[in-house]
Amino acid sequence: MKFYSTNNPELKVDLKQAVTQGLAPDNGLYMPELIPVLPTAFFETIAQKSFQEIAFEVANSLIGDDIPKSELKRIVEHTIQFDAPLVLIEKDAYALELFHGPTLAFKDFGARFMSQLLGYFAQQQEKEIIILVATSGDTGSAVANGFLGVPGTKVVVLYPSGKVSEIQEKQFTTLGQNVTALEITGTFDDCQRMVKQAFLDTDLTKKYFLTSANSINIARLIPQSFYYFYAYAKLPDHKRPVIFSVPSGNFGNLTGGLLAKRMGLPIHKFIASTNINDVVPQYLLSKTFNPRASRQTISNAMDVGNPSNFVRMLDLFQGDFDLLANEIVGYSFTDEETQKAMREVFSRNKYVMDPHGAVAYLGLKKYLGEHKLEAYGIFAETAHPAKFKEVVDETLKTTVQIPSVLDKFLKHPKKSYALSNKYEDFKNYLNNNF
Ligand SMILES: *Cc1c(COP(=O)(O)O)cnc(C)c1O
Repeated sequence: MKFYSTNNPELKVDLKQAVTQGLAPDNGLYMPELIPVLPTAFFETIAQKSFQEIAFEVANSLIGDDIPKSELKRIVEHTIQFDAPLVLIEKDAYALELFHGPTLAFKDFGARFMSQLLGYFAQQQEKEIIILVATSGDTGSAVANGFLGVPGTKVVVLYPSGKVSEIQEKQFTTLGQNVTALEITGTFDDCQRMVKQAFLDTDLTKKYFLTSANSINIARLIPQSFYYFYAYAKLPDHKRPVIFSVPSGNFGNLTGGLLAKRMGLPIHKFIASTNINDVVPQYLLSKTFNPRASRQTISNAMDVGNPSNFVRMLDLFQGDFDLLANEIVGYSFTDEETQKAMREVFSRNKYVMDPHGAVAYLGLKKYLGEHKLEAYGIFAETAHPAKFKEVVDETLKTTVQIPSVLDKFLKHPKKSYALSNKYEDFKNYLNNNF
């Protein structure tokens, strides 16, 4: 499989280049040249297959020619080490719980798959791969945990001192092994600037094989299609239209769903559910894409003002607004509406939603309310409620149990190296320690 840049279909690279570069040299995002449709037999027997079997067949049809089958199987099995339960919340509304991975958020799927793929490419070369990641919290933990112990790789996480929650900080400062945490006296923007500068610094790029692990990497997108197939497989029957509501920020999750549909998964409609950062729902109403500064909300992993995967969504429809708007409906919700939904579902159904999942629940209900339709509705629950404990406890007047995986991080001592926000200090650190 070749991958082309969304900025230039003539610019094509192989899987290794797409995954190690992340972003194309012309700043485009990589897309598969051809999206294979899975055979009818796959869908006829899907209900009997395990999550790992489904994921392998999907991955194999996309990139099976680029990696030996046994390796791809190992990579998929390492990625899918936890379930994604489909939980019936109320009539025809299912929560697809994507938060059972090590950092309790759906980003574990993408981070684990990418780290295994990079580990495979690292084995084929002499230089180890150094992954630089700037984080304001969640990405750092998913990436660091994904790469933990992967031979041939080292992860350096830069994070702003005092600006991430204690739980988040512990998730990447307690790991050790091949994970180093740099605590920067500065802001997230400083961390991002330092990482970007390192990629442009030929002293470093000659000496090291540097790569980023940002959310636009194609290796994070591919596994985000797996659980759409799995959720479909778990439905009681396949006689009704299926609606997926996805709580969205950078739209990587929803784009994974679009990919699944292109591969033949019969999804009737996607709901792009957002908080007040509603650039995409606005686009679907007005046909104009108007990126703007993000605004803070209680579903803060979706506080995105310029969604990076929007170009991929457009690309899947050849830039045709009508085709895109035919498959995706957009709704946005305020924090007040989100909290009200959390309270209602908690008191009515005894189910605790995190603020992100609650936005998706609202989107699903709104769509089903507007289209009197006998359908199976599925909303993605992207984080464990304990990850947003303060908001959840306060909204529901309850105490969310912290699962033992999070507890485990909290018990270990933090280990980080303090650095200033000067690029030279960061560069010296790399030169002296790697
Ligand atoms: C990252 C994230 C989202 C948004 O996903 P995108 O792929 O960026 O749209 C939603 N919920 C949670 C909990 C997240 O961490």
